[in-house]
Amino acid sequence: MNTPTITLNSGHRIPQLGFGVFKVDPAETERIVSEALEMGYRHIDTAAIYGNEEGVGKAIAASGIPREELFITTKQWFTEQANDKSRAAIDASLQKLGLDYVDLYLIHWPAAANGLYVEAWRALEQFQEDGLSKSIGVSNFLVPHLQTLLAATDVVPAVNQIELHPAYQQTEITSFCRDKGIAIEAWGPLGQGKYPLLEETPVAAAAAAHGKSSAQVVLRWHVQLGNIVFPKSNRAERMAENLDIFDFELSADEMAAITALERNGRVSAHPDEVN
Ligand code: NAD
Repeated sequence: MNTPTITLNSGHRIPQLGFGVFKVDPAETERIVSEALEMGYRHIDTAAIYGNEEGVGKAIAASGIPREELFITTKQWFTEQANDKSRAAIDASLQKLGLDYVDLYLIHWPAAANGLYVEAWRALEQFQEDGLSKSIGVSNFLVPHLQTLLAATDVVPAVNQIELHPAYQQTEITSFCRDKGIAIEAWGPLGQGKYPLLEETPVAAAAAAHGKSSAQVVLRWHVQLGNIVFPKSNRAERMAENLDIFDFELSADEMAAITALERNGRVSAHPDEVN
């Protein structure tokens, strides 16, 4: 199974589809990530705060897959943004993952009220220069945060990882990022199962037309828009289903009907709430 890749502004390539491990029980992570790698996932999205980097690392080590064939992302929690903490944070993540470098390291939330994200970004620039992360990016950054960052620092983030699904499309941020060459990673691509996206008529109709599931249709919608996605599931059959979205194409009308499902339907935290 060949997952398409997207070339980031760092020059490195990222598989457009990966496997996310938010809320994957640390005790189950090695087994579940091993299953994901076995079925063909090569891109894993974790974070220090998920508490499961060790399980991801054990699965990587056990897989025998050459390091250069994997794309591993982790994230700095907002309590670690100060200069005296950030190096220890990435070192701890690398140690838990059992890796010399990650492919992508992100500032997890701007936590703008703390006034430290520019300082944190300068540290990430250094981590990239030191080879600790091939690419660096941000997560949950709104346009004003990105404007501040771009004005004050040198490296343009490779990605902005934001909540994004048909009911919450954040077009102001996505068009800003597109203009600046920042790739969009869509977290909660299926609305975290909290929003009845999969029952919406245009999604169900496209699923029936293509002989696919509603989840596959929503993931395909993301991929055709150029979003990078890493849906999460603990269930092997759903993990396999989510990977199997590269043998059909939604028509322009089907894409438009799904895009019309915008409801300003945020299902998780707003960036101002996390600090
Ligand atoms: P998601 O949209 O991937 O939803 C996951 C839920 O969708 C599952 O628990 C399951 O209930 C359901 N699901 C999955 N596959 C399905 C299928 N084939 N059919 C029906 N239902 C299915 O939400 P998520 O896990 O929050 O987001 C994906 C990843 O994004 C996370 O695992 C994590 O890596 C990342 N993330 C990042 C942030 C951030 O702040 N940067 C926040 C949340 C998530």
